[in-house]
Amino acid sequence: MPVLDCIFCRIVAGDIPALLVLDAPDALAFLDVGPLAPGHCLLIPKTHYESVLDIPAERIAGLTRHLPVLARAVMESVDATGLNVLQNTGAASGQAVFHLHFHLIPRIDGDRLGYRWNAGAYDAGEGERIQAAVRGALGRQ
Ligand code: 5GP
Ligand code: ZN
Repeated sequence: MPVLDCIFCRIVAGDIPALLVLDAPDALAFLDVGPLAPGHCLLIPKTHYESVLDIPAERIAGLTRHLPVLARAVMESVDATGLNVLQNTGAASGQAVFHLHFHLIPRIDGDRLGYRWNAGAYDAGEGERIQAAVRGALGRQ
């Protein structure tokens, strides 16, 4: 069901214009209105899901099958030598539009866009504790 106040549902419905680059039965891709680099695209499912947390596995498999061909086409179209695929889940991650989307951000050597986050390190035993927590949580899914 489309969500009335969802900007991406409205793009799917054709109520809001977008520069579409891919229109498949289950997916749409279009240029981001605020590109981090020329060719920055968003790949979305036509059905409204908020994020990777609520989309069924088979639906996200159907969506991500478009990534290889779309990535190659986007890179070729702007002569990119690299690409960041980014997916934000939740406000804490920076998600602003709560309709699942993958960013495809073309990169060119020396484009100065940046990509490094500050890496941390685990205290003794901390990694193993988190490993056990994740494995336990996986067993409960
Ligand atoms: P997020 O921060 O949720 O991962 O990214 C949302 C993205 O959607 C942003 O990069 C923003 O520029 C893009 N965006 C927001 N509204 C629109 C719109 O109406 N049309 C298009 N094409 N992109 C949008
Ligand atoms: Zn939506």
